[in-house]
Amino acid sequence: MKYILVTGGVISGVGKGVISSSFGAILKCCGIEVTMIKIDPYINLDAGTFSPYEHGEVYVLDDGGEVDLDLGNYERFLNVTLHKENNITTGKIYQSVILKERHGDYLGKTVQVVPHITDAIQEWVERVAQKPVSESGRIPEVCIIELGGIVGDIESMAFVEAFRQFQFRVKRENFCVAHVSLVPQPRTTGESKTKPTQSSVRELRGLGLSPDIIVCRSERPIEDNVKAKISNFCHVAPQQIISVPDLNSVYEVPVFMENHGMAEYLSGRLDLGLTPLPPFRKYMTDWIGLGDRIRHLKYDVTVAIVGKYTRLEDSYTSITKALHHAGNKIGYKVNIKFIEASNLENTMLTDDPASYHTSWRELCLSDCVVVPGGFGKRGVEGKIEAVKWCRMNEKPFLGICLGFQAAVIEFARSKLGLEGANSTEVNEETKYPLVIDMPEHNQGNMGGTMRLGKRTTVFKSSAKYCKMRKLYGNKDKIEERHRHRYEVNPEYIEELEKHGMKFVGVDVEEKRMEILELEDHPYFVAVQYHPEYLSRPVIPSPPFMGLILAAKDRLKGYLARGCKLSPREPQSDYYDSEEEAVAWTVNNLTIKGETDDSSAYSSSSQL
Ligand code: GLN
Repeated sequence: MKYILVTGGVISGVGKGVISSSFGAILKCCGIEVTMIKIDPYINLDAGTFSPYEHGEVYVLDDGGEVDLDLGNYERFLNVTLHKENNITTGKIYQSVILKERHGDYLGKTVQVVPHITDAIQEWVERVAQKPVSESGRIPEVCIIELGGIVGDIESMAFVEAFRQFQFRVKRENFCVAHVSLVPQPRTTGESKTKPTQSSVRELRGLGLSPDIIVCRSERPIEDNVKAKISNFCHVAPQQIISVPDLNSVYEVPVFMENHGMAEYLSGRLDLGLTPLPPFRKYMTDWIGLGDRIRHLKYDVTVAIVGKYTRLEDSYTSITKALHHAGNKIGYKVNIKFIEASNLENTMLTDDPASYHTSWRELCLSDCVVVPGGFGKRGVEGKIEAVKWCRMNEKPFLGICLGFQAAVIEFARSKLGLEGANSTEVNEETKYPLVIDMPEHNQGNMGGTMRLGKRTTVFKSSAKYCKMRKLYGNKDKIEERHRHRYEVNPEYIEELEKHGMKFVGVDVEEKRMEILELEDHPYFVAVQYHPEYLSRPVIPSPPFMGLILAAKDRLKGYLARGCKLSPREPQSDYYDSEEEAVAWTVNNLTIKGETDDSSAYSSSSQL
């Protein structure tokens, strides 16, 4: 097993996750099986109890792990399925050590950070690195570990020390360090400043780890003389320094890095046996193509996301990405407008009329609307208002989780005349509890007690011709990831269906509602699960495809053609067929043969 540790310097939030994923994507393109681990040095056991304002959205895995959103980046870039253990937290490590202590495994010894915590970290990494993460079931050959935060944080000290020891445990040829640092370029002088990078590398060295690669993040590319300076002061060769400026899209980063010979360097440093490599155009073709297409999208589609955590866009990362995947595929540049749900509520008309009107204006001007998941009371009435507006104005709508529940509540109020209908999460005393607690919801404990992870949804036989079944390729069953405590109250289903709200997808026991559609609406779809987590750059999630197509009045034709995009329509699909798109992901794992159409990607030479 080969290990690449990715550390951060100066400040966090400079794209360490994307850089780590890009190392993985490059190696995968060379036919290497890659797995990834994210270390979050906080004491929480997992990300499950965080508000999205803490670290952005909580990402959910197949096995129900509630993890950091970086694992979403890894899954999307590498097309892998990770496990909850691929996200390590200080809490998890301490919990495992304390459990062992209670079990008497330390034979009367004092349990300490060094060696017990540091050993536990190393053992965890070695164990999880072996776990297969792709459909091939192969044991990974390379494990990339991203250490959250920056070097020097008190929180991450035990991890840094663990890796200092680890480099000797696994030997030099199996371990290298990539340090992602910020090179500020202040407007006043326009110069690239290397001091912060110098200090953070010094700090890393002081802790016993030497960087093999220094990734310099900056707004604009850094000049050769700046690289030479960093090389001099940080004691690394110039070819070990790579400048990654802000690019047009994150999907351009792997190509950009590979253009600087990353595969060749890693192959030499970790003895991966990859050289001689063909020109990188040959094996990075698909990434080059993806970047090119995104850059050349000509038409726009505006999507409103009516949420309650809109102050931080990272709260909706996977949804935003899923919308872009669908837009890229169909040929539209997706413009997202985040609308604060509570601004749409009637009380705002007097409390803050400017926000009320601005928000309604943005909603009305959008081509389609997503009402995403969420927890608690705040903003629910605003979400219900947005749903109502979409229903009454034939605006394409996709409700997700809480958005699904809001759609049911709104419909019960407006069409069934159940005034005050609500979810018991919002109003425990409601006369009409349309959405209720699920039996598995453990009231005492908040962490890890929801209905989580991958579950099967079955399309009802009575719903053979519904839009969603067609969008999912006419499958009888689908699997998607879940994260919820509440569900639609089965007692109201019959009445809701009678009035035209069709629950076309249910769980395997046919008790729990999973997908709803309105019959006489261009696209009014809501799902109890979270389709955004399984959307991939070239295999977009079907509900999102449906939404964007409906927004541009292209859904009917698409469904009639058996989910094929028409070549006559604007900037049609960049893959000729669904099969080709699937092949992309599969081929993305192996070095592709010679292709003679590399000229098609000439614009990428500017990368
Ligand atoms: N709060 C709702 C529930 O727990 C919705 C959850 C969500 O949107 N993820 O069921």
